[in-house]
Amino acid sequence: MNYKKININTALPANPKSRIMIVYTGGTFGMTRDANGVLVPFDFSHILAYLPTLKNLMLDITVIAFEHPIDSSNIEPEHWQTIGKIIFDNYDDQDGFVVLHGTDTMAFTSSALAFMLEGLAKPVIFTGAQLPISEPRSDARENLITALEIASANREGRPIVPEVCIYFDYELIRGCRARKVESMYFDAFHSENYPALAKAGVKIDYAFDAIANPTAKKLSLRSKFDTNIALLKLFPGIGAKAMESIMETDGLKAIILETYGAGNAPTAEWFLVILRKAIAKGILVLNISQCPGGMVTQGRYETSKTLADLGVISGADMTTEAAVTKLMLLLGELGPDQTRKWIGKSMAGELSEL
Ligand code: ASP
Repeated sequence: MNYKKININTALPANPKSRIMIVYTGGTFGMTRDANGVLVPFDFSHILAYLPTLKNLMLDITVIAFEHPIDSSNIEPEHWQTIGKIIFDNYDDQDGFVVLHGTDTMAFTSSALAFMLEGLAKPVIFTGAQLPISEPRSDARENLITALEIASANREGRPIVPEVCIYFDYELIRGCRARKVESMYFDAFHSENYPALAKAGVKIDYAFDAIANPTAKKLSLRSKFDTNIALLKLFPGIGAKAMESIMETDGLKAIILETYGAGNAPTAEWFLVILRKAIAKGILVLNISQCPGGMVTQGRYETSKTLADLGVISGADMTTEAAVTKLMLLLGELGPDQTRKWIGKSMAGELSEL
């Protein structure tokens, strides 16, 4: 994935408060209308024309942009690797990072980065917009300005938010707890199972107790993904054929089963036979609930005890976005045996360990 440094012509302030890198990947944020009224990516070097206040933030801003900005529906693990590398390579020179990304898959990318950046001690704040920056009512301006402020915020010389987060519509949430929940209104993201890390109003109110403690570890980058996984959402009436064909996918190493409620699934014999066969073949089966709030508790009902007895692993209160990216990264970095060991443990605050 190619990327380049962009000159946005902000004169360097005499005493910059912080050094912040913006990584521009694309999405609605940077769209403008062409002569025919069609939305196309804008040239990021013109950002000051849309957002002159950038000059007044007293920040030393460096911008790195994807050579070809993308709609985030086209995001692939290669893009995560590129974002991870940009952050890793520039980590020592910057106080924080703001990643501009399309909203559609932002929660996948923020989850992936949370797992990739082991030992992160600086802010990595994702944001974007529901309306392009070229539109008068756009949410892009507030989202970017506040994301920059959060990325540069420190207390007693230390970054306040040493985590991968999403800032959107006046709320800061942990990146690996986020879900896109809204495509029309501005409140696009929500974290059901973990409190917001900050709320922005007249001032930015940080929930200090919910924010991760900075680590003393040195940053390292994990970036191998194994995409031989599948995601199966259960529904009443699901057929054996469809389920079997997924389980028999060539090279399949793991499957996420999106179950009902507290992690419940049918107890029909055909269903259990298919699962038993898959598990006997060495396929890891991870139980994630379709329910955004609460957690998988295998054994609470008979309909989930059977899963536990078969060797299905509980995903606790992980989002599907966190489960997908964590599985691919663990499989790629550590292989199936270690993945089994670590998948149910918290790596970046993505699940609640009981
Ligand atoms: N399709 C766009 C994207 O995810 C939507 C957005 O940015 O809000 O890139």
